[in-house]
Amino acid sequence: MPIATVNPATGETVETFAPYDAAALEQRLGLAAETYRSWRTTSFEERAALLKRAADLLDAEREEIARTMTVEMGKPVVAARAEVAKCAKAMRWYADRAPELLADEHPSEADVADSGGASVHVRYRPIGVVLAVMPWNFPLWQVVRFAAPALMAGNVGLLKHASNVPRTALALERVLLEAGFPQGCFQTLLIGSAAVEGVVRDARVAAVTLTGSELAGRSVASIAGDEVKKSVLELGGSDPFLVLPSADLAGAVQWAVTARTQNNGQSCIAAKRFIVHAEVYEAFTRAFTDRMKALKVGDPLAEETEIGPLATSQGRADLEELVDDAVAAGAVAECGGARPDGLPKELDGGWYYLPTVLTGITPKMRIHHEEAFGPVATVYRVESLDEAIELANDTPFGLSSNVWTTDPEEQERCARDIEAGGVFFNGMTASHPAFPFGGVKRSGYGRELSGHGIREFCNITTVWRG
Ligand code: NDP
Repeated sequence: MPIATVNPATGETVETFAPYDAAALEQRLGLAAETYRSWRTTSFEERAALLKRAADLLDAEREEIARTMTVEMGKPVVAARAEVAKCAKAMRWYADRAPELLADEHPSEADVADSGGASVHVRYRPIGVVLAVMPWNFPLWQVVRFAAPALMAGNVGLLKHASNVPRTALALERVLLEAGFPQGCFQTLLIGSAAVEGVVRDARVAAVTLTGSELAGRSVASIAGDEVKKSVLELGGSDPFLVLPSADLAGAVQWAVTARTQNNGQSCIAAKRFIVHAEVYEAFTRAFTDRMKALKVGDPLAEETEIGPLATSQGRADLEELVDDAVAAGAVAECGGARPDGLPKELDGGWYYLPTVLTGITPKMRIHHEEAFGPVATVYRVESLDEAIELANDTPFGLSSNVWTTDPEEQERCARDIEAGGVFFNGMTASHPAFPFGGVKRSGYGRELSGHGIREFCNITTVWRG
């Protein structure tokens, strides 16, 4: 894939970038390793001051960076602004909280005495140069949620961003430099995915984190495993959204639409499978379909647009294949199932797809098992909570889940039995700096955000004194 900014709203190539040659890559790896030697000994206060300055710069440049993202990957500009604001918030959160999240731990006196030591403490030291392989769907947020904790922990970062979002990658690198981070603390590598193996294997790189597809994750994690290097994977999801009879139906419908169509439907934590109890199935499906049909599809730079184009033409082709496969096997498109007609002429070359609701899904259809990365919802009818949970777990993924019920016993059952890294009741899954984020099964391993996220890339050191 060439490294280029191609506007998904029109299909036009805006700018192409030459990938780094071997010498340029070597120079950056060397700089990262050299910078780490001094950065690791800086204080939390120094790191926090720089990160807060970076947050201020993001706030000041919100509009410009939001537009950069929208032109590169097609998210509605209103959502892009919110993403920039969320990144500034996460930077401030880690700047304030890192000292307590990484404070030394002191075992009990009894355990210290039992070890024969005079004193023992556990210290969270940095691990070194960490490579982040990141996707295009939240091109700023995915990177910041790695970079903010990594930099506060005393690590330095190398970013291999998705090839279709180079401008966003370079914008973040520039913001961190302008905030005063030493050169080499955070560098963008303009390289294709074939060059990732060499970077992971490089002795100067200590660990890798990847957000993206299962295929990419499997490849990078096997290389890291071969090198005995730590990896964190945040891969796809096909999150369930359960609607049970006690639910506030109007609220469930409204949040179902947002949960499925945020970011033009291209979010790992989007609700993708709607599992609805028979008692409310007809009412839910009718209202949900009406709302999906009413969403405004169009130019993502327009303030009123709710659904922009898909980020790549390949992404739209993959989505169309999944829908066509389901419909050919008997699924019903209650709405959508096609490209939109009647968009303005200048958007002809864009990769648009209509919000789609599919019913009548069976396990023979690919969409039952695969992630639909676009505004396509599948709705299932179930007769009981047991059946709903069984269906929720009938997926290779386990990222997060959403459940609409006001019954405390049903909530407890779901919190106990749904196989996922999150269970969100009467709302939708969203990431927050304070809470761990990540999944089980094919959704990956390890956690981002919160204390769990910052400690993933630490050398957890026992300091024993006799
Ligand atoms: P990819 O997984 O291909 O891309 C994500 C990142 O991984 C990019 O930086 C990409 O670089 C890199 N990459 C891809 N293959 C390799 C490899 N073999 N070795 C090293 N790095 C690699 O995602 P796509 O954009 O192709 O999307 C495909 C599907 O992945 C989506 O339909 C969706 O199901 C899932 N996905 C999930 C995301 C999530 O948030 N969990 C985000 C994006 C996608 P490059 O761009 O240069 O190929």
